[in-house]
Amino acid sequence: MASIPTTQWAQVVEQKGGPPIYKEIPVPKPGPDEVLVKVKYTGVCHTDLHAMKGDWPLALKLPLVGGHEGAGTVVAKGELAAGIEIGDKAGIKWLNGSCLACEFCKTSDEPLCAEAQLSGYTVDGTFQQYAIGKAAHVTKLPDNVALDAVAPILCAGITVYKGLKESGARPGQTVAIVGAGGGLGSLAQQYAKAMGLRVIAIDGGDEKRAMCEELGAEAYVDFTTSKDLVADVKAATPGGLGAHAVLLLAVSEKPFQQAVEYARPRGAIVAIGLPANAFLKAPVFDSVVKMINIKGSYVGNRQDGVEAIDFFARGLIKAPFKTVPLKDLPKVFELMEQGKIAGRYVLEIPE
Ligand code: NAD
Ligand code: ZN
Ligand code: ZN
Repeated sequence: MASIPTTQWAQVVEQKGGPPIYKEIPVPKPGPDEVLVKVKYTGVCHTDLHAMKGDWPLALKLPLVGGHEGAGTVVAKGELAAGIEIGDKAGIKWLNGSCLACEFCKTSDEPLCAEAQLSGYTVDGTFQQYAIGKAAHVTKLPDNVALDAVAPILCAGITVYKGLKESGARPGQTVAIVGAGGGLGSLAQQYAKAMGLRVIAIDGGDEKRAMCEELGAEAYVDFTTSKDLVADVKAATPGGLGAHAVLLLAVSEKPFQQAVEYARPRGAIVAIGLPANAFLKAPVFDSVVKMINIKGSYVGNRQDGVEAIDFFARGLIKAPFKTVPLKDLPKVFELMEQGKIAGRYVLEIPE
């Protein structure tokens, strides 16, 4: 194995609002319970854009190397790093580490740990050649998976897989996916299908329409042109009764205030997207008499990660992505800000 250099290329956000600066920085050294992953590909999640803008009520590290959908190979490990070896393929996800000792960690709700460390947010992430992860939290990847295609599974895939499970929707039922044309949305359609669910895709524009239809959505409702979105979504559900589950993935407040209207009685609304300064709002009367279940869902635990990767490794999850070099991150952020990305962008990390 090639030796590990002392410096590396990275995209570094030095101040709130960015932009990311492509520059050389030191290669970090893994602590006793950590591994060093040589990153080959990393997805760009909308969360990375929120982090650069600093638009969430959650403190972050600065200067910051963003990125939390990293796929690569373990090249070094601390003496206490168990369960993963040098040479193994590994993924770094949003949850970089957690205390493993609190009640949430003990009951497999690690994302709720008060001491959780977040890749590309409270610790440096995967927009660099060499990234650190806690051995307990990196996801071991099967040798045969393509590292570019698997990268987006490490946040987007895990998150939507968990969200679909949290919705309680059962095979044959209908899920409305809001933001279906984005990174999380494109994968949500694939997981939903693999889980036996029927998909109504909601997003804007014809490029995303074509992509959603290709991914197997039974209907596409364009929020930019629909004259009555609620009626259109309901009309697309069996019997016009509404969706059994709604997955809210959009980075926009409006759908978070509208979903109850097209959810089916006893339906579940799962909030996953994190638009800044936004509020969930629902009419009390409709929510009560329709017995609507409204909840949040936040990434997934370590086992959700293993399961989401397993769906992918079995060939059930194929979502479109475009690959560009690490230095092009600012261009990807620009397209993302404009809502112009159908699917995901994956950055190729230079050798
Ligand atoms: P993305 O930019 O790839 O996709 C967002 C999509 O929403 C776009 O296709 C956009 O056109 C669409 N959209 C915007 N307004 C809409 C509207 N009114 N109706 C329907 N669609 C609309 O973003 P992404 O990477 O998929 O991330 C989505 C959100 O999820 C972000 O806020 C991100 O931070 C959040 N996120 C949450 C978790 C979690 O654990 N809860 C995990 C990962 C990402
Ligand atoms: Zn993410
Ligand atoms: Zn904990």
